[in-house]
Amino acid sequence: MRHLVGSVPQTCPGPSSHLSPLSSAGRQNYDLLVIGGGSGGLACAKEAAQLGKKVAVVDYVEPSPRGTRWGLGGTCVNVGCIPKKLMHQAALLGGMVRDAPHYGWALQPVPHDWTTMAEAVQNHVKSLNWGHRVQLQDRKVTYFNIKASFVDAHMVCGVSKGGKETLLSAEHIVIATGGRPRYPTHIEGALEYGITSDDLFWLKESPGKTLVVGASYVALECAGFLTGLGLDTTVMIRSIPLRGFDQQMSSLVTEYMASQGTRFLRGCTPSRVQRLPDGQLQVTWEDPSSGKEDTGTFNTVLWAIGRIPETRSLNLEKAGVHTSPTSQKILVDAQETTSVPHIYAIGDVAEGRPELTPTAIMAGKLLAQRLCGQSSDVMDYENVPTTVFTPLEYGCVGLSEEEAVARHGEEHVEVYHAYYKPLEFTVAERDASQCYIKVWGLLCTGDADSGHPPHLR
Ligand code: FAD
Ligand code: NDP
Repeated sequence: MRHLVGSVPQTCPGPSSHLSPLSSAGRQNYDLLVIGGGSGGLACAKEAAQLGKKVAVVDYVEPSPRGTRWGLGGTCVNVGCIPKKLMHQAALLGGMVRDAPHYGWALQPVPHDWTTMAEAVQNHVKSLNWGHRVQLQDRKVTYFNIKASFVDAHMVCGVSKGGKETLLSAEHIVIATGGRPRYPTHIEGALEYGITSDDLFWLKESPGKTLVVGASYVALECAGFLTGLGLDTTVMIRSIPLRGFDQQMSSLVTEYMASQGTRFLRGCTPSRVQRLPDGQLQVTWEDPSSGKEDTGTFNTVLWAIGRIPETRSLNLEKAGVHTSPTSQKILVDAQETTSVPHIYAIGDVAEGRPELTPTAIMAGKLLAQRLCGQSSDVMDYENVPTTVFTPLEYGCVGLSEEEAVARHGEEHVEVYHAYYKPLEFTVAERDASQCYIKVWGLLCTGDADSGHPPHLR
């Protein structure tokens, strides 16, 4: 293995310089360099270090356009699963306070205090940032807080917040740089006045009356907890909610949200955002079906219209790593290998992978085990279960009914439906009309010779 790191040479080569990482002897060597200290990167680095490899992780958070920044741990820890789940829990507690008198607790509903919740959530996230740093130290993984880009296929240049440059190289490099929320930059005022999930969880003050644009996981989860915390919340859907999910189930999710007070504007797309003299945001939108324009005023506009992979600043072309021309995600094979045999990509930045933390973690661990010769197992991305943390949580695994029918034909798919009433809904007299279970099975034709009737597979 031949690697160089740190002080020699001190600065990153300019675009025209040629510097071979393999020409410098006697320098500190790393077996594995991981770019990105999020779910996948940290899991991969820790596993490889535990298996005896010399590992470095570089992680750097580019502040959001609104200036929000955070620590080590990536999207899930700082601006994803963790703060989302805690704010979802805060909203669910509001429902429990309303249920409490039925159970004998003489509680009066009180207004929710955003500042208290946000401070508690943010403190917990900061403790996780610290925990990740300690774990890296314990496992002897070297951590660099630098923004990395490729110099060539074996060498990476990192720049710190203060502008200090560091060169690192390794025999194996794992790219786990995740993604960031997308802004609709074509919409006037979108970047200037809107925020994204990168900002929402770090707001010190309540966002107030909020327009959430988008209709998938992030949009519906955020709108769900904002409504649950007592905020006037509207979701603007341009097409259908939860594309790719079973559409009957996704209707139940949005019906329940509407019953809890979330407003929905369907088939609409925003065309501009303007700040009014009183500080409120006036949003203009179009309804293509009627061809009409409409406006509304909000305190906050939250863009939740998808995410962009963090490949733009990596200089992947210098390493020869190929990306998808449509998604800009890194093309990988089943072994997570990119177009360059010693460079790998895992998690949200890799093409065709679910954008979920458990799959990024598992992919990272398995990759480390293969690189250390401990296993030949590859990640199985089929049938990954997922939950949408809307006020009525929706969990699913496998194909939606629509996909099952498309793949196997209507005559072969048998669908079972059932309503259920959670026990805790009964005493509190909650409406359970959206509590629903749906399972489909593949119907096999009977075998006349053996006397087997048609049955489910
Ligand atoms: P990330 O966790 O995004 O980590 C990438 C890291 O690399 C970041 O720290 C980034 O700053 C850093 N980086 C980027 N470029 C560079 C560079 N050039 N140099 C150095 N460092 C760099 N998933 C679930 O499974 N369950 C959930 O409930 C859930 N909720 C979510 C809620 C929200 C609001 C969002 C946005 C996402 C949620 N997700 C959830 C998805 C989950 O967060 C991601 O799938 C997961 O974090 C991806 O991990 P990753 O390692 O690929 O990337
Ligand atoms: P998605 O890419 O899943 O969805 C984007 C949404 O925005 C769609 O509803 C899309 O509508 C809409 N949209 C896109 N462009 C526009 C536009 N210009 N104007 C209006 N609407 C637009 O993104 P998310 O950010 O919601 O989620 C990203 C990923 O993060 C998810 O796929 C998931 O894997 C992960 N995640 C997981 C969670 C969990 O596990 N609980 C929670 C949150 C995120 P259309 O359908 O019309 O294209």
